[in-house]
Amino acid sequence: MMKQYREARQSLEDDTLLLFRLGDFYEMFEKDAEEGAALLGITLTKRHEMPMAGIPSHAAETYLSKLLAQGKKVAICDQLESPKPGKLVKRGITRILTPGTVLEDRQLEASHNHFLLALDLDKKGARAAWLDLSTGKFALSNQASPGDLFSVLHSLSPREVLMPESLGRRLEMMENGKALADDIDRALGDITRTERPDFDFDQRSGAREVMESLGVMNLEGFGIDLEHSALGPAGAVLVYAQDVLKGKPGNLNRIEEYRAGAALLLDPATQRNLEIFRTSAQTRKGSLLDCMDGTVSPAGARLVESFLARPERDLSEIRRRQASVLEFSQTPRAVEEVRTTLRQGADLERILGRLRNRVVRPRELGGLRATIRGLPAIRQTLTSLGEDYPAIQNLAGQVELFEDLTGLLNRALEEELPAEIKLDVKGEGGRVIRAGYNEEFDRLRDLAGGGKRWILELEAAERAQTGISNLKVKYNGAFGYFIEVTKANLHLVPEHYVRKQTMTNAERFYTDELRTKEKEILNAEEQTVAKEQELFEEVVHHALEHADGLAAVARVLAELDVFSSWGAILRERDYCIPQFVENSRELWIEQGRHPVVEMVLKTESLGLAGTHAFVPNDTNLSSSDEQLCLITGPNMAGKSTYIRQVALITLMAQVGSGVPAKACRLGLVDRIFSRVGAGDELARGNSTFMVEMNETANILNNCTADSLIVLDEIGRGTSTYDGLSIAWAVVEHLHGKEQEGPKTLFATHYHELTRLAENLPRLKNYSVAVKEWNDEIIFVRQVTPGSSERSFGIQVARLAGLPDGVVDRAKQILASLEESDSTASPLVTKGDEPATGGAFVQAANPKPKRVAPRVDPSQLELF
Ligand code: ADP
Ligand code: MG
Repeated sequence: MMKQYREARQSLEDDTLLLFRLGDFYEMFEKDAEEGAALLGITLTKRHEMPMAGIPSHAAETYLSKLLAQGKKVAICDQLESPKPGKLVKRGITRILTPGTVLEDRQLEASHNHFLLALDLDKKGARAAWLDLSTGKFALSNQASPGDLFSVLHSLSPREVLMPESLGRRLEMMENGKALADDIDRALGDITRTERPDFDFDQRSGAREVMESLGVMNLEGFGIDLEHSALGPAGAVLVYAQDVLKGKPGNLNRIEEYRAGAALLLDPATQRNLEIFRTSAQTRKGSLLDCMDGTVSPAGARLVESFLARPERDLSEIRRRQASVLEFSQTPRAVEEVRTTLRQGADLERILGRLRNRVVRPRELGGLRATIRGLPAIRQTLTSLGEDYPAIQNLAGQVELFEDLTGLLNRALEEELPAEIKLDVKGEGGRVIRAGYNEEFDRLRDLAGGGKRWILELEAAERAQTGISNLKVKYNGAFGYFIEVTKANLHLVPEHYVRKQTMTNAERFYTDELRTKEKEILNAEEQTVAKEQELFEEVVHHALEHADGLAAVARVLAELDVFSSWGAILRERDYCIPQFVENSRELWIEQGRHPVVEMVLKTESLGLAGTHAFVPNDTNLSSSDEQLCLITGPNMAGKSTYIRQVALITLMAQVGSGVPAKACRLGLVDRIFSRVGAGDELARGNSTFMVEMNETANILNNCTADSLIVLDEIGRGTSTYDGLSIAWAVVEHLHGKEQEGPKTLFATHYHELTRLAENLPRLKNYSVAVKEWNDEIIFVRQVTPGSSERSFGIQVARLAGLPDGVVDRAKQILASLEESDSTASPLVTKGDEPATGGAFVQAANPKPKRVAPRVDPSQLELF
């Protein structure tokens, strides 16, 4: 047995833990045992000086998840046959699990895609390929500017990344290698990285590998050239997957090219800053994703995530989604019916992934059956809505019913299915295939069952013959069947009993008759199990003949889940469907709200109407008119919230969902950039001024007149004059001398910047209004034209609980400073006077109606 172990161990990489099946346990030995015991917090034992640590096989999945979560790779060496008395069992490595290649349900986060990604880059640019083995999603991309690719990688948040061995060295030799290495670190964070040989990334062999895996002669059907440089990483992904799966991935049938031009790009900093997938505290709760995910199925949740990771720039696709969402919002009954059915189904996409990758178990087919049984109901619900719902009819048309397959699964499989087919010989098999499905199988099962009856009869007969009333006929794995007689009754044992084993209180015997029958029964049982396995595999095979159709239906079900839940959200949260205008560079929002902050305020108000309600605000940007809005106002006024809400609404619009506004009209945006001045990111640890400037440079170099830029307190990370000068120059640059520039929202506490409006025609000043009341400050949360002169820092400081003495002294100092400063602008928003801002408002420019201020002193409680 140890020889088997050594052979298995030698075939593996050093960093892979080996779990070796011994009876009911998976054992680790030697170094593996020491490391595994530490990672899992289990006991380390020693046998003949050899360290050992074991986990019970029934709990293996839990322990495996733990190891994978800590970034380990694990190989499973299993028993390949059922144990026979007195014979060494055949064993072999059946699977290697790595963070990026797992297929088991429990090790996969249901609502999240699970990508294995390979990345390579050189002077010509960066290239990557990514594969979700659990669903068969496979894509590649190359970008001349590596940063664009890193944005994509970040939004995919892969589980494991493969890189060529030589990459680190090559980066060191490249001119901007250090910066690139930093970018990679920032985009990948602490994702498990695995180095692979350089030749795995070879472009030509990659192309061959991809064609072979997809079973095609060329890649024209996917619109991918055979010279595509990302076929190198694609090959690396496939070779690795084969290594760990011990066979070719079975569920690949397409590969897509991810083209940056077809999607709205969000770089990693923007994704973090807008808290799209995670909050700054790294939680999903509180992110835009969480706020937009109202789905009821894991596949639906994954689709929301991938929609958000790749907002569209294809207007027809956006309009298709919008139409479906709008129609669902008009029929809550259909939404409820669809969701009820979806909840009863299983994760079809992942079941297909497992079936095609040879993880074949009864419960997979059970899940498949449950899902396709629901299809007629869903189609019925959708078609009964009729022609008034054309987008929904379009979806209904894609819901294929698979009646033949449902029939087969109903006929062949029991209603209650065990997790797996038992290979042991105690007759545990026989619970998967339904009686009446196959004559031969029914006959064998009867025989095996009859055998057990015979044992009972034998026990009764032997008791009668010998007069031993507690005589037992028993079975165990090592000795097979035997007759057991207690010590007290040994004198009654007849001559023809042959002694087999001595126990403390009993002796075990066999007879010729028992031996012959034992063989017959074991045979019948083994044959039953084998036949059942064979029949089951046939059923799986039939099911897989429909794999492409099933995958397509899985996709439609996921879309139905997303669109119906967005329909419900549209209705319940009072969102609107934005109207896209072709070739427009306008962004007009009436009474927009921040989707996440609004939800938080709603929960905090505990349903009390009117308290802490979110105050909507309008937006009117256009690259050729009000291109650059400078927003001033005191701390806590709502500047950051406001500018982010504009970015989020734009993003949500291009994803195809409704948006939190009364009305919205806009042209397609090519990129959204969002940056916060260094101070706000201190929590992340790398908030140096350098990072802030790096990121700002990236914006200035990459934005176009089609972009939307949201800058929050840029320049704050350095001394006042430095910061002001940089902010000043950045604003000038973004405004530019041309007729058009990127739509920009710039929140700042540098009031001096408001003077720029005098020279820059497309710059407009806004402020977030506050009111003074008895020397206290009340937040109105209203964005009004004009600039705010004062920052009300002292009032905010008092709200925060600074001692009265300090507050009073600060006021004195401020007063004397203000007296000596003659440049103060007359534009102060005070008391009830609305900030009409005189010269700063362009009367010629008609603006959407603004909401009346709602002053609510109870808002103060929030802070
Ligand atoms: P600033 O950037 O001006 O310092 P923030 O945007 O961070 O202010 O807003 C501070 C707090 O005010 C937010 O956390 C939020 O709870 C609240 N807030 C902001 N905008 C609104 C609004 N429009 N309606 C209601 N509450 C708001
Ligand atoms: Mg702020």
